Amino acid sequence: MTQRAWNFSAGPAMLPGAVIERIQEELPDTNGSGMSAMEMSHRGADFRHIAEAAEADLRELMAIPDDYRVLFLQGGATALFSVLPLNLANGSGRADYVRTGHWSSKAIAEGRRFCQLHIAGDSEENEYTRVPDDYDFDPGADYVHVTPNETIHGLRFPDLPDTGAVPVVADLSSAILSEPINVRDYGLIYAGAQKNIGPAGLCIVIVREDLLTGAREGTPALMDLKAQAGAGSMLNTPPTFAWYVAGLVFQWLKAQGGVEAMAHRNRKKAELLYGAIDGSDFYRNPVVPACRSLMNVPFFLADSALEDRFKSEARDLGLLTLGGHRAVGGLRASIYNAMPLEGVQALVDFMADFERRYG
Ligand code: PMP
Repeated sequence: MTQRAWNFSAGPAMLPGAVIERIQEELPDTNGSGMSAMEMSHRGADFRHIAEAAEADLRELMAIPDDYRVLFLQGGATALFSVLPLNLANGSGRADYVRTGHWSSKAIAEGRRFCQLHIAGDSEENEYTRVPDDYDFDPGADYVHVTPNETIHGLRFPDLPDTGAVPVVADLSSAILSEPINVRDYGLIYAGAQKNIGPAGLCIVIVREDLLTGAREGTPALMDLKAQAGAGSMLNTPPTFAWYVAGLVFQWLKAQGGVEAMAHRNRKKAELLYGAIDGSDFYRNPVVPACRSLMNVPFFLADSALEDRFKSEARDLGLLTLGGHRAVGGLRASIYNAMPLEGVQALVDFMADFERRYG
């Protein structure tokens, strides 16, 4: 295989090299079928085996209890922003949302269109540098929405807030499979695939069965979670190739020792990078240490005029996609499961060298 870059993209993001090689190797003839996964009928036995194995491996990796359903849907995480209230806000019609950055704000803007939405915790006033200090939960809400890892602001909940009996619904797009979680703490988990799971075009939903009471009237069929669960995520043709690649990533994760082993590595990677940032006046990360993301590390240069030079010199060394999101500027390194410690070390070495020359 040709030299692969250290790709720090927030998503679509780097996939494990071993998975890319495996796709390449088995593309013309996957599992003796004489075709690639993208050419298989989604209802045929060949694809069914792939789909079932992917789900079984994800269940094992995350210890998903039997009374939770796993769905493989389209529309990305953004589709869920409307799917959630259409399916879950059908008791009191009220939902609590916690605002901790860009993506929870997007979920709020869309959610408001379909339910009585209340912001029960807010980090806006501290510019998303820490999770809320206090909450004002409505015990009659149908659910509480949180974004445990904010991909753009690099903010992570050290612990979930206590919502009592109200189910927590979590956008885990940028944190799923990066560290162990207790699925039972959530009513519903959703994650766009293009960070820690596989190619874009797939959104994984893990939902407690008793919450699947049926979408409200007028909901488009594809957005009806109960109907999707009943049809095995195949109300229509699912994103078969993305599902297949997700399955390969799950196999790779198991071979790496599972989520616990990934969490150990991810903590080491994050410590190395935050250590480099905190150890210098040249770089800065504004998030309080207890709430820093293990996956997305935004940072700023003391002199922002040097950003373009930083990115272009990094690119020349094969350190790619280090620009911050356009909403916040600066720089950002996303260090998902597929990014090895070696890649983070290469970045940290470059940062030290850059500081020596321009600091
Ligand atoms: N939520 C989070 C936390 C994200 O990071 C993203 C994508 N960066 C989204 C939602 C939106 O995902 P999609 O583009 O798959 O709709």
